[in-house]
Amino acid sequence: SAMRSSRIKRTKTVCTYCGVGCAFEVWTKDRQILKIEPQTEAPVNGISTCVKGKFGWDFVNSEERLTTPLIRQGDKFVEATWEEALDLIADKLGAIKQQHGPDSIGYIASSKCSNEENFIFQKFARAVMGSNNVDNCSRYCQSPATAGLMRTVGIGGDAGTIHDIAAADLVMIVGANPAESHPVLATRIKRAQKLRGQKLLVLDLRKHELAERADLFLRPNPGTDLVWLSAVSNYILEQGWEDRSFLQNRVVGLEEYRASLTPYSLEYASEKTGLSREQLIEIATMIHQAKSVVVCWAMGVTQHLGGTDTSTAISNLLLLTGNYGREGTGAYPLRGHNNVQGACDFGTMPAWFPGYESITDESVRARYEAAWAVKLPPEPGLNNHQMIETIHDGKLKAMYLFGEDMGLVDSNSNHVDSAFEKLDFFVVQDIFFTRTAQFADVVLPAAPSLEKEGTFTNTERRIQRFYRALDPLGDSKPDWEIIQLVANRLGANWNYQSTAEIMAEAASLATIFAGVSYDRLAGWGSQVWPVQADGTDTPLLYTERFAFPDGLARLYPVEWTPPFQPGAEYDLHLNNGRLLEHFHEGNMTYKSKGLTHKVPSEWVEISPELAQERGVQSGSLVRLTSPYGSVKVRVEVTDRVRGHELYITMNTTGDGAVNKLTSSYHDKVTHTPNYKEMSVKMEVLEQK
Ligand code: SF4
Repeated sequence: SAMRSSRIKRTKTVCTYCGVGCAFEVWTKDRQILKIEPQTEAPVNGISTCVKGKFGWDFVNSEERLTTPLIRQGDKFVEATWEEALDLIADKLGAIKQQHGPDSIGYIASSKCSNEENFIFQKFARAVMGSNNVDNCSRYCQSPATAGLMRTVGIGGDAGTIHDIAAADLVMIVGANPAESHPVLATRIKRAQKLRGQKLLVLDLRKHELAERADLFLRPNPGTDLVWLSAVSNYILEQGWEDRSFLQNRVVGLEEYRASLTPYSLEYASEKTGLSREQLIEIATMIHQAKSVVVCWAMGVTQHLGGTDTSTAISNLLLLTGNYGREGTGAYPLRGHNNVQGACDFGTMPAWFPGYESITDESVRARYEAAWAVKLPPEPGLNNHQMIETIHDGKLKAMYLFGEDMGLVDSNSNHVDSAFEKLDFFVVQDIFFTRTAQFADVVLPAAPSLEKEGTFTNTERRIQRFYRALDPLGDSKPDWEIIQLVANRLGANWNYQSTAEIMAEAASLATIFAGVSYDRLAGWGSQVWPVQADGTDTPLLYTERFAFPDGLARLYPVEWTPPFQPGAEYDLHLNNGRLLEHFHEGNMTYKSKGLTHKVPSEWVEISPELAQERGVQSGSLVRLTSPYGSVKVRVEVTDRVRGHELYITMNTTGDGAVNKLTSSYHDKVTHTPNYKEMSVKMEVLEQK
């Protein structure tokens, strides 16, 4: 009836799962979520969505939502009022800062939360508390890609948009599984393949869906991507296939780069990577013959001891062949969380102000000091990896973390747990009582995206608004309101009435956001940074200049670091990654009944060869043991993996699995854990 339909509310939102950034309307009636309806106006996805965006929203009404602040009393948590919780936080953080100095507290931001929330969180850490100890979960994923791109082209983001990925002549996918991790982006590739014969080259350990559809799918040995990339570059130079005019006009460093490739002959690469000479030549030939090339990569590249160097090698190869600054070209590190790009962009990193301006640059600091009327700390702070070590050293005493389940996603969880236990005071702010929250002293109930306004930035650097569809559940509050309450208790005098005001402040301070505004972003609008003051945005980077003072790109020589090997008894390599139906650690998707019913628990994939060797079959129970811990898990036998390669999902229903096994070793440059370099031994517990 008319009365009933008049109570239905339609609200534009942006997906809260992956970095593709699909937008759609959510239909609600009271607190009921009726459906998701995509619209042609959505700049990234049009009328497409994937299963998570379409059906993954009932976590919002889960009975497990936190609806009131909680305070630890001994081993228990008791419900508290906001006044009580905020008083306690102000007392404790204030006293710890006084006694041990501003750098005795660490701040962990959220890649699930909005740009505005991340902006005021880093402002809180820096301007109110006086510390640059602020970081976000990109440290666990794409920080190496950011660093590799900063070395070579100057901006740590995708070179173009998903339009360019679809428009490329050749798409190369290295260490990424877009069909499951970035589904709507993968459908653009599938469509381009079908409609105009786009070529697809996949290099991965595991035969995932796009690998099956690739023109060429190759499986290099684990941790050897830099070797084949360098050999391919070397071969391209030997053949004279490099783009000479591009190199002459737009790039510096060719001779040093050429010299650095000398060790990477086809013979050497073939020995290290397990790819044949012919296969290496075929990669080079496909790149040479394509008019435009994009490379997409993810954790398979970055989560290694040499993750930054391999990301650099990818960018070097693109520069060598002139594949930047034109439609259908460039580097695309695929961003995981819906707003991991934005969390970095808006300054929740220990060495950067918003917009990647350096903490150590006096003129930048002076700009922020003038605007915020405070003196700011001049040295980079601790990243999240260093925070854990500094707790163990007894120097970091407290943490404030929001919207991030660090106790589940950080590597070597036994080591992380024991750090959390040593903290004098720990504030966790989330929508659920996460694994990390078990270690907290105060837990603050936050509100998910459907219950607040803000903006997210997707993998393309595209900023989009989301609107409030529902009121916050119970006593929960939007994260930006909570951060403001905490800041004001600790001496700030903030009076933000809306997220629009926060964005206006960010735009007034960070050069790359100069022309970003809520008016320009209204409705289905979007802006891809850098955005000039007049509102002109930049979907495709580097058309005229690279982001260095002289406008020229840098070929940056790198060397291979062999992958970590814990010892011969750990005879199986364990890879890990995502799964279509669940997202990351599964905190939201496991609360969504429809999704959990489909995929109830996790498993380890093993190859038919290994199954035969060890006498197991699908359903057998095994124990995997690394030097850092062990887990029990069921087996699935599949030819997606081969030989002594195992694959385990990073999603988990319970106490975490993969990170009981991973180490604290990390990328040399960015400290991203080497999640993809774990080896284990396997015992059979139950044949089935
Ligand atoms: Fe959401 Fe990503 Fe799926 Fe789009 S592809 S609906 S952004 S999870």
